[in-house]
Amino acid sequence: MSGPVGAGGGPQPPPRPADNGPAMAPGPAPLLEIADLRVTFATEEGVARAVDGVDLVVRSGETVGLVGESGCGKSVTALAVLRLVEHPGHIAHGSRVRFEGRDLLALAERDIRAVRGNHLGLIFQEPASALNPVLTIGSQIAEVIRAHQHATRSEARWRAIEMLRAVGIPDAEKRAGHYPHQLSGGMRQRALIAIALACRPHLLIADEPTTALDVTIQAEILELLDGLQRSLGMAVLLITHNLGLVAERTRRVYVMYGGQIVEEAPTDALFAAPAHPYTRGLMAAVPRLDSPRERLAAIPGQVPPATAWPPACRFHPRCPLAFERCTTEMPPLLAAGEARKARCWLANSRTVGRADERTDAPTQAGLREPGGQGS
Ligand code: SF4
Repeated sequence: MSGPVGAGGGPQPPPRPADNGPAMAPGPAPLLEIADLRVTFATEEGVARAVDGVDLVVRSGETVGLVGESGCGKSVTALAVLRLVEHPGHIAHGSRVRFEGRDLLALAERDIRAVRGNHLGLIFQEPASALNPVLTIGSQIAEVIRAHQHATRSEARWRAIEMLRAVGIPDAEKRAGHYPHQLSGGMRQRALIAIALACRPHLLIADEPTTALDVTIQAEILELLDGLQRSLGMAVLLITHNLGLVAERTRRVYVMYGGQIVEEAPTDALFAAPAHPYTRGLMAAVPRLDSPRERLAAIPGQVPPATAWPPACRFHPRCPLAFERCTTEMPPLLAAGEARKARCWLANSRTVGRADERTDAPTQAGLREPGGQGS
């Protein structure tokens, strides 16, 4: 695990360009507030700047999306919030992560353990690797409850069975005695959700919570999460590459590319008119229900490795709108309308285009249901 790197203890970040835009729409005080988060990994190819100056806010009770292709830094951002970045990764000096007013990067190891799984839950992408294969499902949930809430052994076991019932596992008492390999993929994912929610967290970070599941189970799991979110009143940070999920389930969205936030906006505004060419490219790559079957438009090229981000605008080698300034100067997050920003020199221009003026990008309503193909 890695805490912040002290002065001189790791690569120092370059000076941060000044943002030029409004803050997010006013609302309740932030539950989670990430500011200038930077995570680096020392590799044989050089220093990988996996997360490079990310700012992100989640307020009580809201669902916020964090989207982008694989390799853009979404999962590393989640791991950094929970201080689960492992060697050779470092959270750089100057990064800030505040949760319920506490600076998570400054907490002692014992205190951050008390936050993880208690007030702040995490669902990983892969239930098979996240569960302990040699412990029964019931004992894994009970262990979390006992670690955080001083319950007796029998209370914890009873609550573990209640939790398995709450996540829709039939015959919960019997299933509590089963090992992970005895459960189907859908059941293992439900068990993982039960562990993440066992202590009724105030914020759940769900990193591709349904990627490994078939479409029917995906829909069931998402309904289940919705219901639990309503009953527990928790906030959710939904990390995904699936724009259908984002359109359906979130109120605000952050789009990530090259270790940076490149666009942030209310969900309906983002789908009505993406302000960043990368967001537009992601949308054009999603199949629509309301248009004839046709070849999807892929973003040309691939996400470069984090050891070799292109200079200036990191998207410029793949951007159809790139011009000279894009190759010499990195754009800051610029105001792109009410409560939204985009890291693009054209953020205020109509060049990027409105979704309803184009034929190649979907409207929010036209996206496939969750479980459909993501970007
Ligand atoms: Fe494209 Fe230039 Fe905008 Fe970057 S700054 S996204 S290269 S138009």
